[in-house]
Amino acid sequence: VKPPSLSERLRFLNSLKTSLIKHEKEILHALELDLGKNPIEGYLTELGFLLGEIDHALKSLSGWMKPVVVSTPWLFMPARSWYEYRPFGEILIIAPWNYPFQLCLAPLVGALAAGNKAILKPSEHAPSTAQVIEKVIIAANLDQQVRVVHGGVEETQALIASGPDLIFFTGSTEVGRAIMRSAAENLTPVVLELGGKSPCVIYQCESLKIACKRIAWGKFLNAGQTCVAPDYLMVQEEDYEQVLVYLKEAITELFGADPLQSKSLGSMIHDRHFQGLLNLLERETILTGGVSNKETLKIAPTLVLNSSADEKLMKREIFGPILPILIYKSKEEIFKQIQKDPKPLAAYVFTSESNFEEEFRERVLSGGLCVNDVVVHLGNKNLPFGGVGPSGMGQYHGHHSFLAFSHKRACMKRSFWFENALRYPPYKNSLNFFKRLMRWLS
Ligand code: NAD
Repeated sequence: VKPPSLSERLRFLNSLKTSLIKHEKEILHALELDLGKNPIEGYLTELGFLLGEIDHALKSLSGWMKPVVVSTPWLFMPARSWYEYRPFGEILIIAPWNYPFQLCLAPLVGALAAGNKAILKPSEHAPSTAQVIEKVIIAANLDQQVRVVHGGVEETQALIASGPDLIFFTGSTEVGRAIMRSAAENLTPVVLELGGKSPCVIYQCESLKIACKRIAWGKFLNAGQTCVAPDYLMVQEEDYEQVLVYLKEAITELFGADPLQSKSLGSMIHDRHFQGLLNLLERETILTGGVSNKETLKIAPTLVLNSSADEKLMKREIFGPILPILIYKSKEEIFKQIQKDPKPLAAYVFTSESNFEEEFRERVLSGGLCVNDVVVHLGNKNLPFGGVGPSGMGQYHGHHSFLAFSHKRACMKRSFWFENALRYPPYKNSLNFFKRLMRWLS
């Protein structure tokens, strides 16, 4: 089948945009129902982000689609060489529950821009959002391009087995492994956007107050259920008391004296996750927070002193509003701690020392890096987003989405007017002659 033209792709993206704008209220309400997400937070991190991705694609698509001409070695002259972007075909997009709208539809923007069809599998754990996603797609008249399939593990496995042309999965590392295993049956390529423990370090930082406010914001955004949230915080011994004061102040500024009553604090997605997080707090030294409400599934922003650094909080990605603080004495302890875990999705360092910043950049490999802030690097459409090693493979956002959903086809067109007889057997010249020829003409 002929891939959709530029104008058709622009039409798909425009109708998606119109439908999103039309359903704004319903979308934000669904996010509130599923995750207690404040509508402003819902707009900033989900709908607004998505509209930005669409606008960027609408503006840039004609440039992205252009074939790229490259030079041709003399050996093959006369000829023209280029590579061009071809859609894979049908993309299966499997979304998680934490940013259930954005993480389902932002990949779709890239898939459509690159000329693909898509199957969306929204998270079964965010049912209101899953419903509104289907509504948005139907209202956008995209039923020829996009199919929405609801369901859980079984339905997802059936979709994988049906042999899509590429699978784009966002979720946990453990499930990512299972997805890749199933995809291998049909040799289906995968993009895996996974998780992990993203470290955050404060080292010789000139503004501890601002650092703490930014950390508190990024950690407790979506009640800690953010794949790039700082998972734990490492603080120098002499800064600890001051950092604790500033973090507590920041929590009060953001969520008031009783965070469980705050409309800005989200809920845990379901009872199991709520209970799992509370279990992590058992027998821990809680510095602030630690209270929860079973009815609303809210847990107050919680700081925990992690003295030995091998408590259960450090065993896996926390994915909730709990921030363990680890105190270090020497710089080496920072790297030793970070290296205990697989390469993270994000790494954060607050420092005013450029030497340390460089050392951190050199020694810590992560999907993304943000210096003197957290999470915000995701907001820059010009930056690729994705993990490395167990935190994922493949990258997207902006132009990188177009690239992720396109096959780069290598093309060469030759002319008939010159025929180089040397390449054909029987070979009459010496090996040395061919060595020299290849060196000169390649
Ligand atoms: P998950 O991995 O549990 O599941 C995602 C979806 O996959 C589920 O909704 C389900 O339909 C399907 N699934 C689950 N098990 C399956 C199996 N065995 N075979 C086939 N399909 C299966 O993810 P989640 O709990 O929805 O999300 C939380 C995780 O996602 C966290 O680890 C977080 O770090 C990660 N995450 C990563 C990013 C990113 O962009 N890198 C973004 C958000 C969340």
